[in-house]
Amino acid sequence: MSLVGKTAVITGSNSGIGLGIATELARAGANVVLNSFTDRQEDHDLAEEIEREYEILARYIKADMSKPDECRALIVQAGACDILVNNAGIQHVAPVDTFPTGKWDAIIAINLSSAFHTTAAALPMMRDAGWGRVVNIASAHGLTASPYKSAYIAAKHGIVGLSKTVALETAEEPITCNAICPGYVLTPLVEAQIPDQMKTHGMDRETVVREVMLARQPSKQFATVEQIGGTTVFLCSDAAAQITGTTISVDGGWTAL
Ligand code: NAD
Repeated sequence: MSLVGKTAVITGSNSGIGLGIATELARAGANVVLNSFTDRQEDHDLAEEIEREYEILARYIKADMSKPDECRALIVQAGACDILVNNAGIQHVAPVDTFPTGKWDAIIAINLSSAFHTTAAALPMMRDAGWGRVVNIASAHGLTASPYKSAYIAAKHGIVGLSKTVALETAEEPITCNAICPGYVLTPLVEAQIPDQMKTHGMDRETVVREVMLARQPSKQFATVEQIGGTTVFLCSDAAAQITGTTISVDGGWTAL
């Protein structure tokens, strides 16, 4: 699959799944724009490393996805956006009746509304270019629920709905919009939770992963950032040109239960 000459903007891509997606898109030949809300030398270094490794153009643009103006400015600053991956996301866990309002607002803003703003800014560019792909990173929690994650689950269900609507609005154009629904993915964030879980449950690493973290993931394996990146590359391929307005689960069977 060659994406040479395409520009991909990946929100929240200085770590974890977003970085994995940016790397796989770069491997496929796309120029990539990395993003997060920080502006550290290491953020820019990441882009430089990807540029060198894959011989494409890569840069890092700071933009806070909780702020509508910055979401739109990211796309404008990118200068081109053939592939838009809405990946930035945060989580907070608490019962509904004590869920902090500020956390609710931040999760809805970053995990859902940012995708509305970036998509609105990117679609005219895709139309001018005569080709476009919008890939939204939802979650198994975009299709199912768990207790104590009300804002996250509302946002992830919301982004699945947004993906369907954008797909219908672009259905007659060479633009597609889909949502990837990962189960548990082994990112540095998830990896960091393992020692605490081992202590809490008095279990070894393997048991904690299998019985606690992957309790709902029938494969009993984490998905990898490379697999989410590869699924994104597939959605950008010609083979996926008629795949639009749908979800692709990468969840080891979670949503089949
Ligand atoms: P992560 O914390 O490693 O990555 C989140 C990214 O979003 C980081 O780059 C972070 O800097 C960025 N970000 C956070 N707030 C931001 C803001 N205000 N503006 C711009 N960027 C911001 O976590 P991850 O696991 O890689 O998650 C990436 C996406 O995948 C999220 O949308 C998450 O909901 C989704 N997801 C993750 C899993 C999993 O098991 N890890 C499963 C399903 C879905």
